[in-house]
Amino acid sequence: MNSEQIAISMTFWINVVVATPAHSGVGGPLTYRSELPLAPGQLVRVPLGRREVLGVVWEILPDSGGLTPGQAKSVLGALEGLAPLSPTWRKLVAFTAGYYQRSLGEVALAALPPQLRELSAVQLARRLKRPSADTSTEESQAKLVELSPEQTAALVQLERDTRPALLFGSTGSGKTEVYLRAAARVLAEDPEAQVLVMVPEINLTPQLQARFEERFAHLGRERVVALHSGLTPAQRLKSWLAAHAGVARLVLGTRMAVLASMPNLRLIVVDEEHDPSYKQQEGARYSARDLAVYRARLEGLVTTAPAKPQEDTFAPAASPKGCNVILGSATPSLESWQATLVGRYQRLTMHERIGSADQAAGSLPTVRLVDMNHQPKHCTLAPPLLAAIAQRIARGEQSLIFLNRRGYAPVLACHDCGWKSECPHCSAYRVFHKIDRTLRCHHCGFTERVPRACPGCGNVDIAPVGRGTERLEEHLAELLHGITRPDGSPLVIARIDADTTRLKGALESQLASVHAGEVDVLVGTQMIAKGHDFRHITLVAAVNPDGALFSSDFRAPERLFGLLMQATGRAGRNAAKGAQSEMWVQTFHPQHPLFSALKKHDYPAFAEQELADREAAGMSPFGFSALVRAEARSQDLAQGFLNAAAAAAQAQALPGHDMVTPYPAVPMTIQRVANVERAQMLVESSSRVALQRFLAAWQPVMAATRQQAEFKPLIRWAMDVDPLAI
Ligand code: ADP
Ligand code: ZN
Ligand code: ZN
Repeated sequence: MNSEQIAISMTFWINVVVATPAHSGVGGPLTYRSELPLAPGQLVRVPLGRREVLGVVWEILPDSGGLTPGQAKSVLGALEGLAPLSPTWRKLVAFTAGYYQRSLGEVALAALPPQLRELSAVQLARRLKRPSADTSTEESQAKLVELSPEQTAALVQLERDTRPALLFGSTGSGKTEVYLRAAARVLAEDPEAQVLVMVPEINLTPQLQARFEERFAHLGRERVVALHSGLTPAQRLKSWLAAHAGVARLVLGTRMAVLASMPNLRLIVVDEEHDPSYKQQEGARYSARDLAVYRARLEGLVTTAPAKPQEDTFAPAASPKGCNVILGSATPSLESWQATLVGRYQRLTMHERIGSADQAAGSLPTVRLVDMNHQPKHCTLAPPLLAAIAQRIARGEQSLIFLNRRGYAPVLACHDCGWKSECPHCSAYRVFHKIDRTLRCHHCGFTERVPRACPGCGNVDIAPVGRGTERLEEHLAELLHGITRPDGSPLVIARIDADTTRLKGALESQLASVHAGEVDVLVGTQMIAKGHDFRHITLVAAVNPDGALFSSDFRAPERLFGLLMQATGRAGRNAAKGAQSEMWVQTFHPQHPLFSALKKHDYPAFAEQELADREAAGMSPFGFSALVRAEARSQDLAQGFLNAAAAAAQAQALPGHDMVTPYPAVPMTIQRVANVERAQMLVESSSRVALQRFLAAWQPVMAATRQQAEFKPLIRWAMDVDPLAI
């Protein structure tokens, strides 16, 4: 070895974040050494066990911290040609990991496209070439509509006030147009600026993407990219790289996009902000909507004030320039609504449907409540509703019937011996699907042919109990038999639910036939309530919505109200001239305040009532909660683990424990799935900060409890902070 080599052979000590399984005991970054100088945020390849994995340089250490070179492995190489992930991105990841009680590595690596680790520097450099068309300063060539007074007012207000904005506007009030204009303004102001538009899983339709691409076509191709789970790994990598390099000016994505690397982010839009699909349901169970608000504040702070943000709360501080966030909905989450009541968010209201001057196109449907107490017993469709549907068919109009239960019947039963179609692996019934004569478990997927006779007693007369969409479709065909269209041709009934849309492209083609007027009556689950604009539908009916009124899930009424409001929004947009559209609701509780508010299309009245109930019960947004779930082969073990961990927390007087209430462990609603027993423990507090401190301190205690001999057989456990359903 000559002297020159010795001089340049320096060793740097760095902490690298890698994907570690949750609760493996490795929560934070791992220390590596490197012969190369590296910067925080850089992507590197490092050895982990026997594998080579992708990592993010988290910090450069001042010294070895007592480690000898033999105790730390070497970084294998950096992904050259890729700019480091920004400090803001790293802060966002750190906050997400801390708040939702996951490891840094799990959050950081899940936010990166998996294909990154397979790329060589050469490939990266090639992919990162600037797009051919450079940013044009020209204005959009697209012909713009004239904004309504409400749209104009909303846009003016957005410029004046930088607080997070709740855009409260009914379906068809022109919210998307407001997003487009707000984005256009931000993009025109700053040639580097980037915009993130988030939509619920189900709404990311090619049509919406086309609308954005068309509006921003003048920026050049490749400037508008999509980021969602439906992309191939290669497409996802391409979009991610474009966003990270600043090439993509607008990213349109689902919840995963909230953690995309966007170095110049200036506006975030969260459309249908109340949608439950914004909450991730596995791994780090984050709320992409809440993170969007947090991220906007973080991005704003970086450009305006270097002060360290308070990372223990989502309450944002106004920033003079920074990054705006718009949350849009016709039926906002009660959390966001409450934030506007106390002034943390500003509220922008758009009452009017576009074109409401034209009565037929714009007016909201009349809501008709059918009191099922006064209808023939056990009828599925009340006679007046049936008559109304028949009338629509005769007039050449379409009807849409909702039932939130797919399959033919939820249970198959024997009336002789009491046998029911239970799933042998789950504490749930298997659903009868008549079309292929199967019994299918909607929880574990276990599927069998329907038995010829009762497995219990041999009785051949086993019968379906209850009604799903498949049976409703069949029943409707019987009830409407003989009714014809105006031209005398036979009527067409169609069904859209998870079963009919399993194949790629099936949903699109089914929707297309509805749009083309080929279908007279459409039966479906909530899938059809969302996001589709059916112009010729003049009647929408909810057949059996009562379950949600008395559900143990405290958010069920909020979801029902949102769904019904959304369903009313489906009807009558652009409906044929003179056709007044109607929303029918069959209920045994017509006096329920939820329905009175629905009748008046009055979300604020619903929110007021519901918030009062929540406040009295100390529930979100007035209280904060987390769920800890455990899975084991026996219910005793799962519950025992949770109770032992809670007892340990109490015994050790963990920080915040005096302001936090852990409830005894209970079985989950579906307590057994695929032969695994599931239990949960609810933890509540009136203080978000206290709950956060407690959970952070509780994590290691849980991990230690898990190591006790009696809990070794536990399968897994995980925390869910701000859970959607309790
Ligand atoms: P939302 O997102 O609130 O449901 P959209 O922005 O999609 O509403 O608007 C509904 C329909 O009205 C769309 O077809 C849209 O192109 C059209 N629209 C929106 N704003 C205007 C306007 N100012 N003038 C005319 N049409 C408009
Ligand atoms: Zn039997
Ligand atoms: Zn099952």
